[in-house]
Amino acid sequence: METRHTHTICPYCGCGCGLYLVSEGDTLTGTLPSSRHPVSRGSLCVKGWNSHEFVNHPARLARPLLREGEGFAPTDWDRALNEVATSLSAISKRHGPDSVAFLSSAKMTNEENYLMMKLARAVYGTNNIDHCARLCHASTVAGLAETFGSGAMTNSIGDFDEADLFLVIGSDTTAQHPLIGTRIVKSVLDRGAKLIVFDPRTIELVKYATLSARQRNGSDVALVNGLMNAIITAGLQDEAYIAARTEGFEELRKLVAAYTPERVEELSSVPARDLVEAARLYAGAKKAMIVYAMGITQHVSGVEGVQALANLAMLTGHVGFPGTGVNPLRGQNNVQGACDMGALPDVVSGYQKVADPAVREKFAKAWGVPRLPDKPGLAATEIMNGAAAGTIKAIYIVGENPAVSDPDTNHVRKALSKLEFLAVQDIFLTETARFAHVVLPASSFAEKDGTFTNTERRCQRVRKAVACPGEAREDWRVIADIARRAGYNGMNYAHPSEIMAEAASLTPIYGGISYDRLETFGLQWPCPGASHPGTPVLHVEKFTRGKGAFKPRDYKAPAETPDAEYPFVLSTGRLYWHWHTRSMTGRTSTLERESPDCFVEISPADAKTLGVRKGEKLKVSSRRGTITVRAEVTERVKAGSVYVPFHYGEAAANLLTIAALDPVAKIPEFKICAVRLEKAGA
Ligand code: SF4
Repeated sequence: METRHTHTICPYCGCGCGLYLVSEGDTLTGTLPSSRHPVSRGSLCVKGWNSHEFVNHPARLARPLLREGEGFAPTDWDRALNEVATSLSAISKRHGPDSVAFLSSAKMTNEENYLMMKLARAVYGTNNIDHCARLCHASTVAGLAETFGSGAMTNSIGDFDEADLFLVIGSDTTAQHPLIGTRIVKSVLDRGAKLIVFDPRTIELVKYATLSARQRNGSDVALVNGLMNAIITAGLQDEAYIAARTEGFEELRKLVAAYTPERVEELSSVPARDLVEAARLYAGAKKAMIVYAMGITQHVSGVEGVQALANLAMLTGHVGFPGTGVNPLRGQNNVQGACDMGALPDVVSGYQKVADPAVREKFAKAWGVPRLPDKPGLAATEIMNGAAAGTIKAIYIVGENPAVSDPDTNHVRKALSKLEFLAVQDIFLTETARFAHVVLPASSFAEKDGTFTNTERRCQRVRKAVACPGEAREDWRVIADIARRAGYNGMNYAHPSEIMAEAASLTPIYGGISYDRLETFGLQWPCPGASHPGTPVLHVEKFTRGKGAFKPRDYKAPAETPDAEYPFVLSTGRLYWHWHTRSMTGRTSTLERESPDCFVEISPADAKTLGVRKGEKLKVSSRRGTITVRAEVTERVKAGSVYVPFHYGEAAANLLTIAALDPVAKIPEFKICAVRLEKAGA
């Protein structure tokens, strides 16, 4: 049989590495790196190397399923699609359009996300559409949009080779974004770049750091304000940049005056002398990059954390040039694209606000509907609360697994079970799909054409290597078919390139993007016209909003802090070996072999106090639930803090986490809640 090599993009993290899927007939037989790809340059991490394996897994959904009692019975597509279209229509008619909600997916293509938001808005008349960006970088989207005018990574992955200094805060980069982590390590080892690491855990990058400190969980705003205080005290701010490029500096100066290094040491536990030294290094670097991830965003003060970092970059003139900037590392392969395509409750594609009548008119005209809903919809976290309260009656979920990924999953599971109608479209029968009335078998990244947009805003082609298993279908076809069965005639596409052409015509930042221009290694938005080369660095000469706006932000305490009953701080996160709810990595033998079960990291001091040895089972309880996991005794966590990876459905860390939300971004505080530890036999 002929062996084929199909160039496509890794389905895991936001690095967006290029790879070849090797196939024989409709079976994937391997993965090879793309040597000329600008991000991965011939390398892949362990997840990328093994990204073909789950596609072939025998548990893939291959037929539509209809609920039958406690289980499911196979059905045909005709019946399943009619059931979804008519149930959503009937509930919308009976209870109003906002009784229905849609969860799109950061694993789907841009084209599919565009269709999901079109389905919600044009067909079902609601802005209740969201996706898992709500759980990872909603704070970035909201925070940077206000300060800079654009809520995306300011620079490019290639810029990591130019920076003289990296300030990494709240990002376990080598585990979460391995190819970017490697660039940082190489810059330190090969070019002598300086590295400052602030993280509550001793992460891998600490080995290479010029300076590192473990801040108290949730103290980031105080810490960054302290850095700015030290910079201003030493007169190291860039006065010319501040005067020419920014506004609101005096308010910032007043606010950070209260964050002396000594006070910040009390709040954050970072020694005052380290804070002053980090401030001196960062401000004094020629080209300094801030790199952050969910350690900053997943807090009730997530937006404030992001804006504090933006303030720091503007204070020192470290934004708007190659090798500098504020660089949020986006989690999923296409979480950037799902946001860009408007799978969000308040904006359509290109961050155009639904509240703007001109935007609604433009889209309504293009989509052939009389009007579009004007009231911003509910965020994913609010959709689940609505389901629990009975105001949301039906949800169509594609490629997301909130029964494991959302905070306080007992609450989420109760909410899902209360719905009048739930449709889930996925490649495996996930924990969420088990609550569904209809399950639709979907396509993996290897089985469709489309585009993903990585963390540096690079829109890249995804190519079909093999056919879907059994009767499973490409997601864009399924979404369009539901729209047709709901009586809408505006989703007739022969190929995803036609969907992108429509999206580009309505979305200025994607205006110059078309499939023929993406043939090699993609384009970075903004790309407003057919001859525009794309934009590797944002905010050159001026910010997207004009002047950069300083947003002075005070420190506020986390929603739940330890007490006598729950004396430990729990933080959650991801591992190098796994991805999100393990629906794909848990079905990849190499990754499962290396990390098959859940654990809790506990410090040697706390282990000694509790009389716990490595490998012993521990019960971890919060006010919301209990899990029993293996103890991993390690210096990575400080005494008083514990850490649990959230991947494992059978010991779901999110049974413990709290659904306290950032008031602006509506992102949950996954990074902090209070827990109690007990020996499992006790
Ligand atoms: Fe895939 Fe990310 Fe690994 Fe690259 S770094 S191979 S995109 S998981």
